[in-house]
Amino acid sequence: MKRKLLRSEQGFTLVELMIVVVIMGILVAVAIPIYAGLTNRAERQTCHSNCEIIEKAAVQYLMTAGNDTLNDIAPLGNPVTVESQADAEAKLPPAFLACFEGGTFPECPSENCHYTISYNNDSGGRTVTVTCSEHGGKSDA
Ligand SMILES: [Zn+2]
Repeated sequence: MKRKLLRSEQGFTLVELMIVVVIMGILVAVAIPIYAGLTNRAERQTCHSNCEIIEKAAVQYLMTAGNDTLNDIAPLGNPVTVESQADAEAKLPPAFLACFEGGTFPECPSENCHYTISYNNDSGGRTVTVTCSEHGGKSDA
């Protein structure tokens, strides 16, 4: 009886502790890539909805400001790149910025990237496309 009591007071053996540490290491090794993948996917989805918001704002601007005013945003065939709010205020017409909530141009959740707004005249008619330097356009997976 006394011997059994002493044994239980010894705590964990080194092997038991090592097994616990190894299992925790495996769990962390599995969890980190999953977490990073979720974060990347969330950023990409936010970015793609930003692209859609910018494209819809361009259509709204076109409808309120008149025919062919998309040239004011990005001249036909000459895409414009926007990196920040200050950049947007410098490069884009104020009436276009007013199409965004609070006049705030959307920013990509990733650091150091920019949106390119292009106004194209292709076979399907005149279109505005917005792409992110890191995440591509809204239809990119
Ligand atoms: Zn982006």
